[in-house]
Amino acid sequence: MLAAHAEAAQVPTLVTSVRNAVQADLPPLVDAIDKGTHYPADFLRGLGALGAYSTFRDAGPRTDLNEAIDAMSEVAEVCGATGFMVWCQNALAWYVANSGNRALKDKLLDRVTDASLLGGTGLSNPMKSFFGIEKLRLKGKRVDGGYVVRGALPWVSNIGPGHVFGGIFETPDAQKGMFIADCSAPGVSLMECDPFLAMDGTGTYGVQFTDTFIPDDMVIAHDAMPFVKKIRAGFILLQAGMAIGIVRDCIELMQHMRPSLGHVNKYLAGQQPEDFTRALDEISTEIRTLAATPYDTSEAYWRRVVESRLQAGDATMAAAHATMLHTGARGYVKGHRAQRRMREAYFVGIVTPATKQLSKMLADMVA
Ligand SMILES: Cc1cc2nc3c(=O)[nH]c(=O)nc-3n(C[C@H](O)[C@H](O)[C@H](O)COP(=O)(O)OP(=O)(O)OC[C@H]3O[C@@H](n4cnc5c(N)ncnc54)[C@H](O)[C@@H]3O)c2cc1C
Repeated sequence: MLAAHAEAAQVPTLVTSVRNAVQADLPPLVDAIDKGTHYPADFLRGLGALGAYSTFRDAGPRTDLNEAIDAMSEVAEVCGATGFMVWCQNALAWYVANSGNRALKDKLLDRVTDASLLGGTGLSNPMKSFFGIEKLRLKGKRVDGGYVVRGALPWVSNIGPGHVFGGIFETPDAQKGMFIADCSAPGVSLMECDPFLAMDGTGTYGVQFTDTFIPDDMVIAHDAMPFVKKIRAGFILLQAGMAIGIVRDCIELMQHMRPSLGHVNKYLAGQQPEDFTRALDEISTEIRTLAATPYDTSEAYWRRVVESRLQAGDATMAAAHATMLHTGARGYVKGHRAQRRMREAYFVGIVTPATKQLSKMLADMVA
């Protein structure tokens, strides 16, 4: 009995395996990913082989997103851009796993969850449009065996030739459909983006659809709205992995400065590593609870998801800001981790749902 326990204890969990892979393979790549000279396809595929995108593949009542979030946080603790790409792949897997289209699942689920097929999500524009921030950019028309889609998305990450991503279009009768786009299909063009502050190594492109045929076996849901309602909490909660990982590293960086600069850093009131550890514990506890029931349809649950995402973004930016103050001139040197964490942290605040969108959503709920 005891031996069996000991054996079970030695089976590495997904989080341990991801941590080991991250520590072994990611540090030498971070600089190039940050500079935008390297897109870490092999590393992302390696995480797929470990199961990092498979934890919810049998989407059902017992689905729990915590393992996926924990694994993502291990990646983001070392590199926020790669943590974001892990979220992109997970979001894609989340859409496919929850689709009711058997043909689509047969075609894509295995390849997306093991990351032999890489990809992401183009849902920022729809997510903003559903909350009255901007208009839906993709237009679709029903044709024999599928849809024809036109329009453009300004930014989609973790893509490239041969990759796929989820999108939403609107038909002339205001019906919305959700689909998977194949970046290499005829009528799909990828456009280089202007360089970003960070995230240049994330395979981010503008995507143009020119009367692109989307076959029925690439349609996630002919009626996107109920589907979005089903996946929206998971979409948001999974992003916590990025936030938690970055905050953990910021705390580590602040602690690292104690021996040399603690005598003066201690005057940064309310911005001590202990303050952020406390905030992180509170946020993580709330996320852990919410991520255990991603299909909860109650308004009270949805509000908590939005609030927790807002808090996670705020805590990430606050921790990165404090890290800059703690690390001082060292952190201000180009190439220091602190300034990279700061640039990555702002992305958590601007990626959809951005801080301002989350605040609007909460204000609208009150109204
Ligand atoms: C590096 C990076 C990666 C991203 N990856 C994805 C992804 O994978 N999938 C996805 O769906 N979204 C992606 N986005 C978009 C992201 O999620 C947000 O939607 C985006 O950052 C803007 O959000 P916001 O709410 O702050 O909107 P705002 O920036 O306040 O407003 C957005 C609107 O402003 C206008 N606008 C923005 N930039 C410019 C510009 N340079 N010139 C003129 N007008 C402009 C456009 O009309 C746009 O719709 C990415 C963005 C960045 C910067």
